[in-house]
Amino acid sequence: MKCSIGQDSHHFIDDESKPLILGGVFINNHKPLKGNSDADVILHALTNAISGITGVNILGEIADDLCFRKGITDSKEYVKEAMKYLGSQVIVHVSFSIECQTPRLSPFMEEIRESIAKLLSLDESNIGITATSGEGLTAFGRGLGISCLCIVTVT
Ligand SMILES: [Zn+2]
Repeated sequence: MKCSIGQDSHHFIDDESKPLILGGVFINNHKPLKGNSDADVILHALTNAISGITGVNILGEIADDLCFRKGITDSKEYVKEAMKYLGSQVIVHVSFSIECQTPRLSPFMEEIRESIAKLLSLDESNIGITATSGEGLTAFGRGLGISCLCIVTVT
């Protein structure tokens, strides 16, 4: 068994042409996150956690290549790319800790879990997501962006 941690953060921008996407789910009526891709901070943290298992970093050169050369901005593809290097290892559990002031995530929590469950072919009971504003102590808690931690467990 192995455990690995991944982290990512992005800040909000004023861009009405770009949607906010978290865990593969469109969050309506909220500022988007800045990034060349869809800036899905949850899936980027997940990608990094998987890279911690495989030792093959995807975010950076490989994702930039997918983004700029192949035009792939859907972060689900970065997760899939990271999973290619798992070999015989199987993801059995993932846990996310999200820090932000907005959006309010509770109405979207179930949909985000379903989306990640489908992406990882994992039962929803093995996906944990918590969110906090951290009492506004950081830039994320003050509403400037979103930070996400992810722990992946594989056997
Ligand atoms: Zn990112």
